[in-house]
Amino acid sequence: MARTNGSQCPKCGSYNCHPITETDFKGGGYGVFKGLCGYLILGPAGLLCGLCGHKPKYKQRTFRVCGSCGKKFRL
Ligand SMILES: [Zn+2]
Repeated sequence: MARTNGSQCPKCGSYNCHPITETDFKGGGYGVFKGLCGYLILGPAGLLCGLCGHKPKYKQRTFRVCGSCGKKFRL
């Protein structure tokens, strides 16, 4: 068996698959609601609270893309 790598396309059975990494950015941005709450409670300094807890979330997934049919699949 001629295997170029360990993954086989589930659609066409080709081994001509390339690994790709997708990054999902689920992002926070400025917490307006939090900022407003901080403002009401703490005054202008409270606006900074909107920035607190601002943690952008990255999600990385590895896919394989078939070079023959273009099918994208997870391992
Ligand atoms: Zn394929």
